[in-house]
Amino acid sequence: MSELWQLSVAQAAQLLADRAISSVELTDACLERIAAVDGQLSAYLTVTADIARQQAQAADRRILSGDAGPLTGIPMQVKDLLCTNGVPTTCASRMLAEYVPVYDATAVARLRAQDAVLLGKGNMDEFGMGSSTENSAFFPTRNPWDTSRVPGGSSGGSAAAVAAGMAPFALGTDTGGSIRQPASFCGVTGLKPTYGRVSRYGLVAYASSLDQIGPLARDAADCALILQAIAGHDPRDATSLPAPTPDYAAALTGDVSGLRLGVPSEYFADGMDAGVRAAVAAAIDQLAALGAEIREVSLPSTEHALACYYIIAPSECSANLARYDGVKYGYSHQGDADMWEAMERTRQHGFGPEVKRRIMLGAFALSSGYYDAYYLKAQQVRTLIRQDFARVFADVDALVAPVSPVTAFLLGDRTDDPVRMYLVDIYTIPVNIAGLPAVSIPCGFATPDDGDTALPVGLQLIGPHLAEDRLLNIAHAYQQATAWHRERPNI
Ligand code: GLN
Repeated sequence: MSELWQLSVAQAAQLLADRAISSVELTDACLERIAAVDGQLSAYLTVTADIARQQAQAADRRILSGDAGPLTGIPMQVKDLLCTNGVPTTCASRMLAEYVPVYDATAVARLRAQDAVLLGKGNMDEFGMGSSTENSAFFPTRNPWDTSRVPGGSSGGSAAAVAAGMAPFALGTDTGGSIRQPASFCGVTGLKPTYGRVSRYGLVAYASSLDQIGPLARDAADCALILQAIAGHDPRDATSLPAPTPDYAAALTGDVSGLRLGVPSEYFADGMDAGVRAAVAAAIDQLAALGAEIREVSLPSTEHALACYYIIAPSECSANLARYDGVKYGYSHQGDADMWEAMERTRQHGFGPEVKRRIMLGAFALSSGYYDAYYLKAQQVRTLIRQDFARVFADVDALVAPVSPVTAFLLGDRTDDPVRMYLVDIYTIPVNIAGLPAVSIPCGFATPDDGDTALPVGLQLIGPHLAEDRLLNIAHAYQQATAWHRERPNI
């Protein structure tokens, strides 16, 4: 048997159900793994070892009583943007460095209702703003495949933890790619559900019309188990969809014959690494060999997606982050002459440079006289992007594309040039703009020009609204036929 920390969720659940292992043993194995390797990776902001052991004991009692759910006793990491009752939730910001929520986010509560075990909180870019986890106010996370490189972001701590065996799965969030891109950089499987599929209650808001919670795990079958637990209507989130939750595990037939898969020509533009292009092309051939029918399609509004996103996301961010005024909660600068100075100093010291850049961009785009030229225009472009997808989904069942034009880059490589950093998300952002589900799965390795370590490449599968079951099945079929998702970093 492999080491306990190497088990997938499904494997661990089987061993727990057979009473071959206990949740305490499994949890201790993950905690030992964290102690052994997180010094090199910094994937965790908080490790809740004592809480985890208590929760594991409770899970073991539940398993013995015969009333376990599919995730009872399974350890998890939760991105630090999600509220956890009694456990610090910093959003990787100095603003919330001392913040301890008094409730769980709905997604966390649903996992805890099954007695999933909280190992700790994942490092991330401050408030989810970034693509490399270098915007964490505390420390960057490193990529387990090459520690001189970033794990991607903003859920970089989650992807690095799953890749390095420091958690069988993690909850991340995706506003413009923050689950899929780090999953691709770290060689794990990540699912961004349809907007509204998973409740955002208790998710600290970045851009409310784009934010969505989803799992990062070792394969698509594990993502199906986790989505099953967290999906579904929640009256506490007005944007949560009342649609029934299908049986995701039952959808994993492994049969993709006859499925029509579209390849958007705009997603293979110049500037893409040759190694990424080759790995994605080979994955598309593999899907064809499994019986899928491949068609070229066009999404002509793709070229406007990044500009559209960088109006809408900062606009929503500037409104959402107005609440951090040093009065109600969070960091509060002391000793100022008056309220205005106190607010100014609080925001000056509490927020990092990228967060300030977004707030300024958003406040400008929303200001009177500019609103029509920027925010309104971006909303119109958003409609065009949605229409592009709606048109192609009349002819194809799903789209196949790269997740990112590049593999994991070196720490510091893009920090001086925000636009170069933003460009990394060019193939993930349109999906959030249209509110669609998408999954990122490992599909090979590529060696970058500036290094000699082969790094993971991700394949993105994009579906129509609420087609998570179809996407997970395509991903599962691919993973049944290939072994890329079983490759592990040597750390
Ligand atoms: N990198 C993108 C941004 O900075 C997306 C981040 C995310 O999905 N949270 O906004």
